[in-house]
Amino acid sequence: MISDRAVGAGCFADMSKISDWLARNRDWARRFRAENPQRASELAAGQAPSVFWIGCSDSRLDPCVVMDLQPGEVFVHRNIANTVPPSDLGVLSAVQFAVGVLRVSRIVVCGHYGCGGIDAALGGDLPGPLGQWVDQVRESVRINQDELDSLDGADRHRRLVELHVCEQIRRLGHNRTVRQAWEEGSLLELHGWVLDVADFIIRPLCTQKHEGGLTYVAGGGSPLPA
Ligand SMILES: [Zn+2]
Repeated sequence: MISDRAVGAGCFADMSKISDWLARNRDWARRFRAENPQRASELAAGQAPSVFWIGCSDSRLDPCVVMDLQPGEVFVHRNIANTVPPSDLGVLSAVQFAVGVLRVSRIVVCGHYGCGGIDAALGGDLPGPLGQWVDQVRESVRINQDELDSLDGADRHRRLVELHVCEQIRRLGHNRTVRQAWEEGSLLELHGWVLDVADFIIRPLCTQKHEGGLTYVAGGGSPLPA
């Protein structure tokens, strides 16, 4: 569950590290420029990533780390439980920029087992903006209520993680910017993935391309829905 204790403990424990972080940044930046001089000058001029990653804000899911990528390779939007609400300007503007301006060829929505936002969606009401956000995540519960009611505990959690990812891919398939790109001939692909924090392996769940609807990937995640 998302709790004040979990949030606060992390903040207080790390306050003394700010000077360390800045020193580590300077060391890393020097090393990166020394080892990749041409790439560093290209990045100073602009970005041209080929993938747009929509992932959970969870501290274990940095896309550049888990995909072993360098700066400039992935355009990123993260929020609690990797959600694409139909009226959220943050994620919708990021989709518009990634697809309409950067012309990425792939959008990835990556969820993860052990997601606090998904646990919260399966729990009771929360106060404040967090509660309002989780209620948007809960839309995936409402859509898949019958299947989720047949599962308990960890199975229920894992299945909702997967269903929620695929629901976001389905939403992106109806997104105005995405539809327009496809109608203009773009080969843009949408990919739903799940990362298991037990082994940090990413498994594909579903895809959607211009032709045809959402397709589930055989062997991805839990047993597939009928
Ligand atoms: Zn999460």
